Amino acid sequence: MQVATGKSILNGIAIGPLRIYKKAEVQTSQTSSLTPEEEWKRFQAAKEKAQEQLGGLYNKALEEVGEDNAAIFEIHQMMLDDDDYLEAIQGIIETQGASAEYATEATGENFSAAFAAMDDEYMRARATDVKDISRRVVNILTGADDASMQDDQPAILVADDLTPSETVQLDKSKLLGFITRYGSSNSHTAILARTMNIPALIGVDFDDSWDGQSAILDGYNHCVYIDPAAELLASMEAKRKEDLKQAALLQGLKKKPNITLDGREIKVYSNIGNAGDVGLVLQNDAQGIGLFRSEFIYLESEDFPTEDAQFAIYKRVVETMAGKKVIIRTLDIGADKQASYFNLDKEENPALGYRAIRICLTRKEIFKTQLRAILRASAYGTVSIMFPMVISVREVRDAKEILEECRAELKERGVAMGDVEIGIMVETPAAVMMADELAEEVDFFSLGTNDLTQYTLAIDRQNPKLDNFYDPHHPAILRMIKHTVQAGHRHGCWVGICGELGADQKLTETFLKMGLDELSVSPSAILPLRKLIRGLDLSQDKE
Ligand code: PEP
Ligand code: MG
Repeated sequence: MQVATGKSILNGIAIGPLRIYKKAEVQTSQTSSLTPEEEWKRFQAAKEKAQEQLGGLYNKALEEVGEDNAAIFEIHQMMLDDDDYLEAIQGIIETQGASAEYATEATGENFSAAFAAMDDEYMRARATDVKDISRRVVNILTGADDASMQDDQPAILVADDLTPSETVQLDKSKLLGFITRYGSSNSHTAILARTMNIPALIGVDFDDSWDGQSAILDGYNHCVYIDPAAELLASMEAKRKEDLKQAALLQGLKKKPNITLDGREIKVYSNIGNAGDVGLVLQNDAQGIGLFRSEFIYLESEDFPTEDAQFAIYKRVVETMAGKKVIIRTLDIGADKQASYFNLDKEENPALGYRAIRICLTRKEIFKTQLRAILRASAYGTVSIMFPMVISVREVRDAKEILEECRAELKERGVAMGDVEIGIMVETPAAVMMADELAEEVDFFSLGTNDLTQYTLAIDRQNPKLDNFYDPHHPAILRMIKHTVQAGHRHGCWVGICGELGADQKLTETFLKMGLDELSVSPSAILPLRKLIRGLDLSQDKE
């Protein structure tokens, strides 16, 4: 048995034969016996045909993977009509007397290399796209058709790279999974694989001997087993069947409301760390995003992310969620989450130190940049803003005042904005004790039980030696949660949990009996939680 590793695009398992796909080598001759005018006309006719093909692909993708994912083919259509691209092709035809296919191929290579060298991730991803559209035109010009990528038997497809159009054209009934040598996890091909629920690995070094061999693609462990032993095959087959059962369960729950047997509706939202997680949120049918940990944008950046850069990320998430609620937590940096460019001093007790809202209220420009970006994104869906680590009414009032300043600045700039709910994380004992007063200031509370446990029990959540003492089931924590729910409800706030405890199924019934309105959990916890909620009857002995 041989094992090769790569990067997984989707947690899933595929078992079956490998089939290596090699793109047909297209011979393009550089010179032409035709005049440059005639070659340019040939190019234009081929381009028109390519545009028609792309229109067909757009419609196919629209049906199979939805509008957002189909949009790539509209981008291809635009790229094919891009002035710079067309001028480059025409230039090669005219100055070198080259054939249309040679000029198209050379331009595709040149533009692809230029895109690949750019800093901007979005532009880098265009490197494959420009090659894809150029190849389409060259194939039309030379009459070449790509060799069939699949045969009659279902197989795991292995290729150097797959373009988005190749991915959409694949016959899903014969595709068990795919493996590529190149590609990035944010490429459209990867996004399509996730949306189509196809296990896939990228960055795998394979050789021709793999063709026809039996294999297991293990997306959970980022690897592929070639010619696996019978024992491994049996255990992976069992896991694959379990996955299928889970998927069937999900299908059964999709679009069904989260209503308990006695008729109470509970919101089940999802926590995310970056925009790339939204696919999982939709895949697991969460009703919204209950915690977008925005500090990851800062942690993944080498300098302060600009308003425009943040706006683009928030807008993408909000648009993808298509009207479902997206709760963006403002910057919660400091303590265990450090970004060097903030130049924060080393502290004796960082968990009790200069962090989160404390930084935002004192380094106002950083805060305002983020708030403006969020407000701008609010025009594209349903956005809520949540402040972390709050301990006092004054902090909330100050934060809201800064938010209003930002709103006024954007209004002055003529920028559209939507209505935005305001909430706070309740994750300090002070916030719990002040819950009645705080509830007068905001629309919702979200209990951050990770920090609430740490601060209530005086136990560092980072210290593994204290694991046995870190007890989120401690009665003190449960009483605090109950107190917060009651105070919130007294003043018209809805109350949820976004800490890890929200996914603890041993407490779900207790939480719902306490009156919690929402639970926000990691994407993989959504489905089991929804199943549990739909089977609960809360009408018995109300807490
Ligand atoms: C929490 O403290 O419970 C929480 C959700 O926030 P984080 O884990 O990001 O501190
Ligand atoms: Mg916290």
